[in-house]
Formats: sequence, C-alpha cells, structure tokens
Amino acid sequence: MPELPEVHTIATQLQKELPGKTITEVWLDWPRQIRNQTPSAFKKALGGKRVTKVHRQGKNVLIDFEDGYTLLVHMKMTGHLMYGKWKLNGPEARLPNASGSLASGVAWKSVLGGAFDDPHNRFIHLIFKLSNGYDLAFSDMRKFGRLELMKTSETNKVASLKKLGPDAISKQLNWQTFEKLLLKRENSPIKQVLMNQEIVAGVGNIYADEMLWVANVHPKIKIKDVPRASFKIMFDAMRKIMHKSIELGGDSASDFRNVYGEKGAFQNFHKAYRQTGKKCTRKSCVGIIQRTTIGQRSAHFCSVHQKLTTDE
Ligand SMILES: [Zn+2]
Repeated sequence: MPELPEVHTIATQLQKELPGKTITEVWLDWPRQIRNQTPSAFKKALGGKRVTKVHRQGKNVLIDFEDGYTLLVHMKMTGHLMYGKWKLNGPEARLPNASGSLASGVAWKSVLGGAFDDPHNRFIHLIFKLSNGYDLAFSDMRKFGRLELMKTSETNKVASLKKLGPDAISKQLNWQTFEKLLLKRENSPIKQVLMNQEIVAGVGNIYADEMLWVANVHPKIKIKDVPRASFKIMFDAMRKIMHKSIELGGDSASDFRNVYGEKGAFQNFHKAYRQTGKKCTRKSCVGIIQRTTIGQRSAHFCSVHQKLTTDE
C-alpha cells in the first residue's frame, strides 16, 4: 500500500504536470471505484474541469479544480495515478470481465512505452483525457482504490480526511506532541498505533517496521512499556526515513510506481521490512530479522536489538 513517501511522490509529480490542464473526457470500467455518484454522473461532472492544484493529505491525493471542486483519490492497496498517453488495446471483448480478471488482456496500451510498459502499470480502470493530448490514468490491480468528487470547501468534512492525525512530516509536529499522541493508546502494540492514521498520518507497514528497527523498539511492545527516551528516537527516525524515501522516489517493493510508471528505490535500503531470515545489519548486532503478526498485519524486527521489555 502506498504510504506517505509514495503518495507524496505522486502528488508532487502531478503538481508539476496537471495545473492548467482540462479534463476533456472520462473512461472507466469499474463503477465501484467511484464513491457517492453513478459513473455517468461522475463522467459528466469531471468533463471540462480545469486543474488548479494537486496536493496530499495523509495517504490521499487531492486534485483541485478551478470551479471549486476537488477529486479525492484513495489509492488503497495497489492504486496509482500515471501521466502519459494510452490507446485502447483491441476490441471491447478484451476488457476486464465482471469478476475483474485481466488474464485475457489489458484494455489500454501505453503509447509512450518505456517504464509505462512495466506489468504493474497495466491495470488501468480509469482514464482522464486531457486538453494537451495526455492522459491521467488510474492503474489498480486489486481494485480497492476509490475516487470521490466533492466541493473543495467540504473536503474537511469527509470522514477519511477529517479524522487524520497530524502529518508525519509536518513542521507543526514535534516529538513531544508525537509522544503525547501515542500515549493516548497506551495499551496497544506500538506498531499498530504507528499505523493508525488518526494518531499520525502517513505511516504504514514499511515505514513503521523501519523506524522501530532504528529506535530499538519491538513492534509488539505496548505503548506504556516503551522506554520514554525511545519516543524522540522513533520520531527522528520517522522523519529521516520518510525524507530519505521521498528523495529516492518512494518504495517499490510492491506495486508502487510513480506517475511516469517508474519504480522508486527505497526498497533497496530496508533494514527490517521483508528481510526475514537475514542477518541484522546494525553494527555489531548478531540478530536475525524475524517476522511476526500483529492483528492481521505482518511485522519484521531484529531478534536481538529490538527486545520486548515486558515479561515474555
Ligand atoms: Zn539487530
């Protein structure tokens, strides 16, 4: 799932490309990706809209239009927006069927080629045709991504945005506030709390594992048992890791690709996430990276330098 650095990468790149462009036509083949509107109403509403700004809130992309409307894009598991050129690939019969199977072929073919031909970019279920001959495409293999058109003045009323905690890289967030927010959930495992978007927005599975590895904190330890000195270390690690990943164009260990269809590189620097069975790379640590589960989610940690300090 795209986390803060990946969504940040997409929003930053689209902000360079989209402002001033007008949507001329909308194509889609997966009605459920549109929230609160029928696909035909959605198509009609988007046609003629001119983009003024693209920005990010938590893990969501927001596209603002000149006429006071905003398109909210929740990318969920595998969704990503791309800016390029596509043409319909073969007859309608080759479009994905109702069950979503794409085995028989893909609906759209990239005209620009290159990174756009990466297989992760072929699950296009929505295309906005733009006034300059380019397209904004939404590729989403798992089809959990959702788009929602609303008045810009009402974006702060949408549940998914209203409940967001402070952004993980916001200048307004300091380590003292971070600590205070985490302590609200003192009986929950630290990793679960870090991933709760209502506490701090932007951290998901990858970055939680990585920041806990840096801070010597076991992912299952309850907040109340985390040594107090660790909160500042975790906070500093979160900022450093997020900024490093943004510099590297995000993490493409899974499906994430940027708006030009390209991979980010943060996956080459993982210390814990999906490193199960590998030797810990911390200086003079003899641990091995282990995998465990918290709730339904996996967690990766070093068996030696990330200890549960509770009795176990
Ligand atoms: Zn270690």
